[in-house]
Amino acid sequence: STNLLKGKVAIVTGASAGIGAATANLLAAQGARVALVARRRERLTALCEEIAAAGGEAAAFAADVADEAQAGTTVAAVIAHFGQVDILVNNAGIIRPGGIVGADAADWRDTFDINLLGPMYWSRAVLPGMLERGAGHIVTVSSNAAKGPGAPTNNAYAASKHAITAFCGGLRREVGPQGVRVTIVEPGATHTEIAETIAEPGARDAMREHLYNSTAMQAGDIAAAICYALAQHPRVNVDEIWLTPTK
Ligand code: NDP
Repeated sequence: STNLLKGKVAIVTGASAGIGAATANLLAAQGARVALVARRRERLTALCEEIAAAGGEAAAFAADVADEAQAGTTVAAVIAHFGQVDILVNNAGIIRPGGIVGADAADWRDTFDINLLGPMYWSRAVLPGMLERGAGHIVTVSSNAAKGPGAPTNNAYAASKHAITAFCGGLRREVGPQGVRVTIVEPGATHTEIAETIAEPGARDAMREHLYNSTAMQAGDIAAAICYALAQHPRVNVDEIWLTPTK
């Protein structure tokens, strides 16, 4: 069968760790040319070398997805380097655990800036080229938290993930008729580095317990789902993939 990913240019945000790094690796292994985006440049450079050593092609573009201007300048830099953008994987995301009572609103703003506005900036930046060619694919990593009724101990996170799922639904109806595909992926507990980003020790330990165990999914499991959606024939839009641990 033909490999529909070969030679395609893919931007992966949050490629310096976890699900994003696994997705970048898998895309490169399938012949895509991958633009790696995250804030930690040295991690991106190391992953570039790893991909090159495995015979793949990648380039590092350090950026903060929550910075509106950097979305435009980075996408322009990717186009200058690779010629165009066929695929955007909006994966970068953060969690700041907590309920509402006593919360610091700065955590809410960071959560929405990165988890919701980031994908909106990056989608807007790649779309002109995709619409011009009448083809392209935007995959966004939401969460199992978007499927539930809200989360008492992760309120802002769950709210941002509900919002990003709604954003992708609207975007699909906006650009699907012009040939651009939009997919949302909603994983449950997955063993990544996200627990280590939590500052509060109690919440960090709880997240470690939730993610570092034999039942949690692995980052590569989510990468496989993302690549499944991307590898379908252009006439097929995989709207949504919801993954949860079997046990
Ligand atoms: P990790 O913490 O392992 O990786 C997060 C990635 O996002 C890192 O590469 C980080 O890079 C990047 N990132 C964070 N903030 C920014 C920013 N402002 N600008 C650019 N890059 C940023 O987490 P996961 O792999 O677990 O998370 C990936 C996605 O999966 C997130 O959207 C998360 O919400 C979602 N998810 C994860 C689940 C899980 O159980 N792990 C479950 C459901 C959803 P850097 O710090 O270098 O910028």
